[in-house]
Amino acid sequence: MAIERTLSIIKPDATKRNLTGKIVAKFEDAGLRVVASKRIALTTATAGEFYAEHKERGFYGELVEYMASEPVVVQVLEGEGAIAKNREVMGATDPAQADAGTIRKEFALSKGENSVHGSDSAASAAREIAFFFSGLELVG
Ligand code: UDP
Ligand code: MG
Repeated sequence: MAIERTLSIIKPDATKRNLTGKIVAKFEDAGLRVVASKRIALTTATAGEFYAEHKERGFYGELVEYMASEPVVVQVLEGEGAIAKNREVMGATDPAQADAGTIRKEFALSKGENSVHGSDSAASAAREIAFFFSGLELVG
């Protein structure tokens, strides 16, 4: 399998509860490397643009407000099959459906406040990495 990069976000519910380190440890334990990282405050405009694919969904407004409610940590994770591996480590969107040992099973509060975002495909990963990071910030 190829070395890939994927975009991860540690979401407001997790940064607020001081869980950044515990979540990064889950990625590292799974063989993913943090190759870029920054803690930022999203505006509702930026969060809305990032999640534009969900614009027509009923949860969109709430999602955008939530993502702008506290700082987030955006990171690029690198490794073998990083896109799928990250989704595995995250667990299902709804923590009630997530497998034991996954980040969402252990830390998520609800389907909305579910602690992490991860790109869902190679195309999403490319778009989402470029959304937050310039080439100069990707040092490997
Ligand atoms: N979400 C929500 N309610 C839903 C589905 C999604 O609040 O019924 C939120 C949740 O924070 C989720 C995000 O919207 O992580 C993006 O949804 P998606 O279906 O892309 O889930 P993910 O890829 O994050 O697992
Ligand atoms: Mg998604």
